[in-house]
Amino acid sequence: MLIDLHTHSSVSDGTDTPTRLVRKAAAEGVAVIGLTDHDTFDGLREASAAAVGTGVTVLSGIEISCQRDGLSVHLLGYGCDPHYEPLLDELAKVRVGRTGRLPDMLAKLTALGMPLSEQAVMYQVGASPSVGRPHVADAMVAAGYVKDRQEAFDRFLYDGGPGYSNRYSCDIRRGIELVRKALGVPVLAHPWGRGRKSVLTTPVLQELTMEYRLEGVEVDHPDHDDETRQELRTWANRLGLLATGSSDHHGLGKVGHELACNTTSEDVYAELVRRVRARGGHTP
Ligand code: AMP
Ligand code: FE
Ligand code: FE
Ligand code: ZN
Repeated sequence: MLIDLHTHSSVSDGTDTPTRLVRKAAAEGVAVIGLTDHDTFDGLREASAAAVGTGVTVLSGIEISCQRDGLSVHLLGYGCDPHYEPLLDELAKVRVGRTGRLPDMLAKLTALGMPLSEQAVMYQVGASPSVGRPHVADAMVAAGYVKDRQEAFDRFLYDGGPGYSNRYSCDIRRGIELVRKALGVPVLAHPWGRGRKSVLTTPVLQELTMEYRLEGVEVDHPDHDDETRQELRTWANRLGLLATGSSDHHGLGKVGHELACNTTSEDVYAELVRRVRARGGHTP
């Protein structure tokens, strides 16, 4: 049974609508997808409706842009009540921050000889309430400055890159607290991918687990090599954390993230759903 607990739709920075994503899962024999768009619950209703009669189960999720010591870290929340106001307020702040930095990023790109209008970026955003760097990357591709999203990130948009500006994000401790208060299960997304190991050290994982009641870590993720996975799995066992796996699929937006290229075990999935149900959260 293929269970992929971290995917994105066009409601954030994926390229498939929620409906198309569900259909793709059905066509590829994926039994469960967690839809975890960045900082929004907007795609969940459509995905759940599209799942009816397909045999695909959609687990409600979200990926919250957080930070630890100023470095970007991502938090997955499963089964959150999508109407819990304090969480919605925080998500709105994150989204406003993301959109608000756009002029600054565009000024940097102009200085680098790659002028882009705000409209050109908004054209790429489509229905997403969440303007992200991937949309800026798409506008750069459309303008012929780079060949694909990856080149845009590798040369200009990476964290601290020449076309990057920082933005508001939520402290990871606050993120965990909000997910729990929304009756969801908090799981750290790709904790040791892309340089995050330097801030999400094992004492920090311990603190987040013991003091803030983090419940899981994503172990099998394309950003983790085999050695990283092994070490992280050992720590997950030691700390009693659920170890999940996912593709972090973004449609055509990211290579090496094909649907269900990494998966979560049936046992871990069942335990996750059991916890959400026990606290009255949003279950499939
Ligand atoms: P933002 O939240 O607007 O800062 O954009 C973050 C999103 O950009 C992430 O969720 C990824 O989908 C994507 N992203 C970040 N860093 C990279 C990278 N180095 N290569 C490709 N995509 C990236
Ligand atoms: Fe993304
Ligand atoms: Fe992420
Ligand atoms: Zn993601």
